[in-house]
Amino acid sequence: MPVGPEYAAAPVHATLPDSLYAPVLPARFPEHRLRYFNAEAASTVGLDTLSESEVQSHFAGFAPLPDNLPQPLALAYHGHQFQMYNPDLGDGRGFLYAQVRESHTGRLLDLGTKGSGRTPWSRGGDGRLTLKGGVRELLASALLDARGVDTSRTFCIVETGEALVRNDEPSPTRSCVLTRLSHSHVRIGTFQRVAFLDDRPALAALVDHVAEHLLPEAQRAHLPDRAVALVEAACTRVARVGAQWLAAGFVHGVLNSDNINITGESFDYGPWRFLPTLDPGFTAAYFDSGGLYAFGRQPDALLWNLTRLAECMLPLATRERLERALEAFEPALHHHFVERVLARLGVTGGGADDEALAVALWRCLRESRLPFERVFHDWHGGPAALERALDGPLGREYRSAQFQPLRDLFERFEPTSAAAQAQHALAHAAPPTLLIDDVESLWTSIAEGDDWTGLEQTLEAIERYRDIVTGHDTELHLLT
Ligand code: AMP
Ligand code: MG
Repeated sequence: MPVGPEYAAAPVHATLPDSLYAPVLPARFPEHRLRYFNAEAASTVGLDTLSESEVQSHFAGFAPLPDNLPQPLALAYHGHQFQMYNPDLGDGRGFLYAQVRESHTGRLLDLGTKGSGRTPWSRGGDGRLTLKGGVRELLASALLDARGVDTSRTFCIVETGEALVRNDEPSPTRSCVLTRLSHSHVRIGTFQRVAFLDDRPALAALVDHVAEHLLPEAQRAHLPDRAVALVEAACTRVARVGAQWLAAGFVHGVLNSDNINITGESFDYGPWRFLPTLDPGFTAAYFDSGGLYAFGRQPDALLWNLTRLAECMLPLATRERLERALEAFEPALHHHFVERVLARLGVTGGGADDEALAVALWRCLRESRLPFERVFHDWHGGPAALERALDGPLGREYRSAQFQPLRDLFERFEPTSAAAQAQHALAHAAPPTLLIDDVESLWTSIAEGDDWTGLEQTLEAIERYRDIVTGHDTELHLLT
């Protein structure tokens, strides 16, 4: 049997009004070469038991999975792109292939593609994904996941043997199809489409669907209450992911409303970047000349999109109630920002000083312009990290007056038990980074020499570092 006992098909998207999707045929590719398979993610949905040829048949040929969607569904949506409304969007190079339950949580997960062929929404596009684009999405999702961000995971990448022409990559360039495992592909733009088309039954059905399958905290007996609770739940979750990006030093790059998942989970990684140093104006996308989606503007961009979501609900609930629901964003952003910064620092027990610590660290990072990730690494464990930080490469800077308020505050905190245990390993480890030069150099090895070892080693280093800071592999370390 190809699928494992943990496999649980749940093709519920097909129960939505059929104006929200179109069954499509996958492209046929000249070649299937499996380049990446996430066995760990696959094991959470009972698909780690697939053989390599089965993986290719399902994730390059898109033969249906047992009891799942009989045919892939290209999803329909609209969206604001750089604040301009575009009613011609929709899955133009991807589709929903299957839906499954995550075994340990019961959450609904989508297997959605990128680069799987043309659809009714392809417009002039070829429906394809470049291999570099696939590798970039894989890298972003892996490091974000390790840094504690609610993110889609890359399930697999199959190189497909076509030569693509792009104006932002040396062309011709190699092709692939990527499948991601994501907690929904219902976006703010999905709601915008039904609202734009004035399709009230579809809007109500979408609200019901999301409350039933994706945002249980939005379940209410009456539709107006459900719509308001859905906006509030989306605000809370999207704010959390925005806070996680800040603490992870991540710039998504394209915060258009079609790229904002209603569950808050972050996905669709195109021109992303990680920060070298803390700079609120740091911008990822070369086409974002005004810096609309710069690092420090991401919370504003998210709230702007959530406001568009609230507007979609105006046929169902009053303006006053929807405006109040939007007020959930700000405190959730704040709360999760402090929580994530402290988690990334591996400290606890500060009580009323939690916020002051997060603010002090942020000020140090911004004023000193020291390497963002190195500072988190050096101070992971707070007071337990003091000696390591002062003896490390940035010790001189940490002894300066600029860092004194932070050092004073650390005295009021304790390391988490995992952080306390991690000190020895951290002293001998380097924090994994994916700055633009790292990413370009990994890609150059693949492009010029078909050398994938750098990518594999980077993914391994990310996992090893995660194990160190979470303490998950402690026993293993003790045994060796
Ligand atoms: P993205 O920037 O990836 O979020 O995509 C924005 C829109 O453009 C979506 O509707 C995509 O499906 C579509 N799109 C992007 N690239 C292509 C392509 N190569 N072929 C067809 N549609 C595309
Ligand atoms: Mg997109």
